[in-house]
Amino acid sequence: MDRIVVEPPKPGVRLIRGPEPERGAEELLLRTLEVGIDGTDFEIARGEYGTPPAGEKYLTLGHEALAMVVEVPKGCELGPGDLVNPTVRRGCGICKPCKSGQSDFCFTGLFKERGIKGLHGFMSPVFVETEEYVVGLSPDIREVAVLTEPTSIAVKAIDQVLKIQERMPWREEESLGEKKALVAGSGSLGLMATFLLRLLGAEVITMDRSPDDSAKARLIRGTGAHHLNSREVDPLVLAEDLDGFDVIVEATGAARVPFNLTPALGTNGIMVLLGVPGKSVTVEVKAAKIVKEMVLENQVVFGCVNSNATHFREAHGYLRELLEMYPGELKGVISHRHPWQEFESAFQEDGKDAVKHTLVWEED
Ligand code: BGC
Ligand code: ZN
Repeated sequence: MDRIVVEPPKPGVRLIRGPEPERGAEELLLRTLEVGIDGTDFEIARGEYGTPPAGEKYLTLGHEALAMVVEVPKGCELGPGDLVNPTVRRGCGICKPCKSGQSDFCFTGLFKERGIKGLHGFMSPVFVETEEYVVGLSPDIREVAVLTEPTSIAVKAIDQVLKIQERMPWREEESLGEKKALVAGSGSLGLMATFLLRLLGAEVITMDRSPDDSAKARLIRGTGAHHLNSREVDPLVLAEDLDGFDVIVEATGAARVPFNLTPALGTNGIMVLLGVPGKSVTVEVKAAKIVKEMVLENQVVFGCVNSNATHFREAHGYLRELLEMYPGELKGVISHRHPWQEFESAFQEDGKDAVKHTLVWEED
C-alpha cells in the first residue's frame, strides 16, 4: 500500500510502499476517503515537528480524516459502510484524564498523536483503529466531514471559554449572544472559530493580512462577521473604539500576536491561544502595561490543544447547523480537493486564496 510520509527531521513529503496493516481482534479496518492538510502538517513537512513511531524512520502523515468502515470487531456498534472520523490523540494510559477519555488534557505528556507524534497518520488507502477512537457520522454531512477535526478544536476552545467564564456573571447571560469576539488568523481553524462564534450569536471580527477582496475575507463576511486586514487597520485602535473584546481567539501561530493583542481584551475578557509557533521568536513587550491591565481587568489568557471524541460529536452537530446557516461559506473552507496522487502540489505552500487543501482517496 502507498503511504504519504515524512522522514523527520528532514524536510519533504514522499510516497513509500509498505504492507497493508493487519486488523487486530479489537480493531476496525477503515478505508480512507479524504484527509485534510493543516498548519501542523506543513510544519511536519518542513521538518520542524513530528516524530515517527518508535524504531521507525518514516511517519505517515495526516490527522484530519474521513473514512469508511470496512470490517469491524465482534460487538462493534459500527458496521461496514458507516462513515467515521478518527480522533488524533491516544492517551498515556496512566493519568486520570487519559483514563477517562480526555487525553486532550494528558498530564504526563506520554500520549501519542496519529500522523504527528509516535503513531502513523491516515494518508494511506486503509488503516486500523479501535472503536473508542472513531466517531461515526451520518451521510448528510459527508461533504464537509473532513472538517470535523479542525472544527472539534474550535469547539473545545469555545467550550473552555464558556466554562472558564463561569467564574463571574458575564454581562447579561453566560452564553456568547451579543459578545464581541476577535479571531486572529483565517486558516481553517480561524475560519471554523469565526463560523461557530457567529452561530452562537457573537459579533465577530476576524483579522488576517489578506485584502478585503480575498476569498477568505468573502467567507468571513458571508457569515455576518467583519473582516479586518491588519496591514491596514490597527486592531488595537478598533478594540479601543469597541471598549475591548470579550473573547479573543488566537489562531495565527505567530508567537508575537498574543502579546500584541492582550491590550485588545476588555474588562473580564478572555483570550484562548490555539496557534502553535514553529520557530523561536523573541519579542520586546510593554510588560508592566500588559500585566497591570490583566490584573486590574480580571483578564484570562489560556492555551488549548487537541480535542476528544466528545468534541468530535459536538462538531458533527455544528457542521450540520453550519450547512443550514452558511452552506457556501462552510464548503468554501475546502478550497482545493486533490486526488491523493497529487499530494506534492497539495503540499506546495499556500497561494493567497488557498484555505484548506484535502487529499481524496476514493469516491464512493
Ligand atoms: C492537531 C491537534 C494536535 C496538535 C498538536 C494540531 O494540528 O489538530 O489534534 O494535538 O496539532 O500536535
Ligand atoms: Zn495522559
